[in-house]
Order: sequence, then structure tokens, then C-alpha cells
Amino acid sequence: MTSSEAASAPTGWPPLREELRGLEPYGAPQLDVPVQLNVNENPYGPSAECVADIATAVAEAAGSLNRYPDREFVELRAALAGYLARDTPHDIDAAQVWAANGSNEVMLQLLQAFGGPGRVALSFAPTYSMYPEYARDTMTEWVQGHREGDFSLDLDHARDLIKERQPSVVLLPSPNNPTGTALPPEAVTTLCETAAESERGGIVVVDEAYGEFRRSGTPSALELLPQHRNLVVSRTMSKAFALAGARVGYLAAAPEICDAIRVVRLPYHLSAVTQAVALAALRHAPELLGRVDELRAERDATVSWLRGQGLTVADSDANFALFGTFADRHAVWQRLLDRGVLIREVGPDGWLRVSIGTAEEMATFRQALTEVLAQEASQS
Ligand SMILES: *Cc1c(COP(=O)(O)O)cnc(C)c1O
Repeated sequence: MTSSEAASAPTGWPPLREELRGLEPYGAPQLDVPVQLNVNENPYGPSAECVADIATAVAEAAGSLNRYPDREFVELRAALAGYLARDTPHDIDAAQVWAANGSNEVMLQLLQAFGGPGRVALSFAPTYSMYPEYARDTMTEWVQGHREGDFSLDLDHARDLIKERQPSVVLLPSPNNPTGTALPPEAVTTLCETAAESERGGIVVVDEAYGEFRRSGTPSALELLPQHRNLVVSRTMSKAFALAGARVGYLAAAPEICDAIRVVRLPYHLSAVTQAVALAALRHAPELLGRVDELRAERDATVSWLRGQGLTVADSDANFALFGTFADRHAVWQRLLDRGVLIREVGPDGWLRVSIGTAEEMATFRQALTEVLAQEASQS
């Protein structure tokens, strides 16, 4: 570019939307350290057998990559419906299932279909940090209520806020990220009923990204689907299913809701390769989910251990624990990183979140944190 061209270029180029200027893209640091406990991945990869099965399925799909994939991915929807059936006594039909490239895309599609200018999306903080971005990107107004000190939902407050703001979408992670808190079914029922009475009969999205990790006695919101036509239960293959790299998320809801999303989805959004990988992985569901019980036990042990160190820890139904509180959480995060342990600086001020890894990784985490806490104590 010549200097005269540069001088005539409009300021603030490229012509980004005003409200996006200066914003950083979302995402935790991707650092190459020995112990990565920062993005709630399953620490166990697939077995050689599962890898071989996925490879065969991909090779088969590769032979017809000159063609667009099945736009309605009927086989995958049926397989996902079959998988969900384990978490509810009611039937789930393929027409009630929708999928996309990660549940983040599924929920963005929900906002594209049900949000938009003049509409409101609502959640209760602390909540998943991507939700306000779906709202921003779809020009939906973002409204955030609060949670109690123990991170449970204040139902009176939630009901009042729904009545006052009339959201067309309510987003409720359960178990919540970053706190690990699951919603009792009574709360889901109350919020679905309140949202149904609102102006537009808003939808309630229960984001069960960590659903498979819930403690025994905590039911899935899938059980409530027949009672509430405005209930959407979102799931992902990224966490318990150990398939974060494949980018597959899905939901179960009334067929009318799936049909509405079909209007806004891009054509052929789920590639033939993605569909093949997801189908092959679902055939290995028992294996891929095999370590979930181990991770749940490790989670409970981690929560107890952290409490034993005198720390405050939120009850967790997920594969992570939120603990604190620290006057300078960044310093603690950095000192753990210096010892090769990467966790996440997220949640309310002073709190840190650790994902549950293998027994060995958790031992390294405990050792590192013990050293860091001793260092803190000697300095104060
Ligand atoms: C990890 C996570 C997701 C899943 O994201 P994918 O796009 O499916 O990988 C969804 N919701 C919450 C609250 C999460 O923490």
C-alpha cells in the first residue's frame, strides 16, 4: 500500500460492527504443558479399537465426498435419540433431536431462530461465558440475573425476572459451568411454566454439557420433556463422551423446535466426515463413557481434598471443581502453571476451576497446589 492510499483509508478499518471493536475472541489459553486441567476435557482418549472403527467409517465416507452429506442426518439423529433413551423413561424420537458442530453451534442456532433484535436472552450469573456472545452475535438483548451465594438458583428472583423481561430464550446450564451446580427438576418445571406464560412463550434451554457426570439422585431434564413443549435439553459429545475434537453437540426438544432451527441452519452444516465419526463413536458409547464413574469418584475426592486444605469448594455434579477464594487468583494460577499444571481462571472474583483428570494428573495437581498454598502462607 502506498502512503497516499493508507492516508485515504477510513479510520477504524476493517468495518467491524461498532459493538465488536476491540473485543478479543473467546477461548482459554491453549498451552503445551504436562498437566492440562483447564477446559473440562475427558482425559482418556479412545481405545485403539474405537480409533480403528472411526478410521474405517471416515474412509467409507471419503469415497463419496464429491457429494453433499445427508442434510437431515437422519441416521445420526436416530442414533443420538437411542443414546438419550438411557436417561429418561420416555421415548425420544429422531424428529426431536437436532445436532451441529458442538453444542455451542446448537445454542447459537437457537438464538438465531428464537432471539434477535427486540428480543431478550436470559441467564443467571455465574453462568457459561459463551452465552452473552451468542446474544451479541444475534443482536439479542442479554439479561443476567444472579444466583445465591452457594450458586443455587433463587427461584423467586428467577420467576420475577422472567415475568419482568419476557425472555424468548432462557439459558440454564445444569450442571452449571463454572460452578458445577445442578438444577433440581422442580426448578426446571417452575421456569418452564413461567416462561410458557410469558408473552412469546419463551423456550428454556437446559444445557446438560456435563449431564453424564451428575451425581446419583440428580435426574436429567430429559425426563421432563413430555411435560413442557418449550423445554430444550442440550448435550454434547465433547465432555463425558471424550470427543471434543470431533465437534458434535445436539439437543432434544419438541419437533417444532427442531423444525424452527432447520430454517436458520446453514445447508449441510454437519459434514459427512463428522456424521461418520459421531456414528462410529456412538457404537462405542459404553467404552467412551466407561471412565465417567472413575472421573466422578476422582471429582468427589478432589472436592473433599480441597476442603481439607481449608478452601471453599462449590458442590459439583460436573467433571470440575470451582474452589477459592484467593486474594490474587492470578498469582495462584501462574504458580500452578510454573509447576506444569494448567487450570482455569474463571468464575467470580477469587475463584479458580480445575478440571478432573486422571488419578496421576490429580496427584500432580494436589502436590503443586500444596506447594503454592505453603508459599502463600509463608508470605502472609
Ligand atoms: C463445554 C461446554 C459446552 C460444550 O461445548 P461444545 O461446543 O459442545 O464443545 C456447552 N455448554 C457448556 C456450559 C460447556 O461448559
